[in-house]
Amino acid sequence: MKPRKIPLRKCVACQEMMPKKELIRIVRTPSEETLIDLTGKKAGRGAYLCGKVSCFKLAKKSKALDRALKVTVQPEIYDQLEQDFIEVQDEFLAGKESSNDNGE
Ligand SMILES: [Zn+2]
Repeated sequence: MKPRKIPLRKCVACQEMMPKKELIRIVRTPSEETLIDLTGKKAGRGAYLCGKVSCFKLAKKSKALDRALKVTVQPEIYDQLEQDFIEVQDEFLAGKESSNDNGE
């Protein structure tokens, strides 16, 4: 039996290490779109943020996504992502709760 490893990722805004499923992935796709990836499986360079709007706002302020994704994220993209982030936050939190009982 191998010990179960919990994959940790760092929130690009507050720099905290968190289990991957506690974080929301932002992906820069090969077609150069920047979007929220709730599945965590989209191709492209990813950056992780705590599932909190406060961390998104921090990332926006400090341009943490620009650095993590190695691109210039336009202010309107940040605005769009922030709206999406607020929308997916509920879904994300609900998904976490419903997945608690199967051990994943
Ligand atoms: Zn954070």
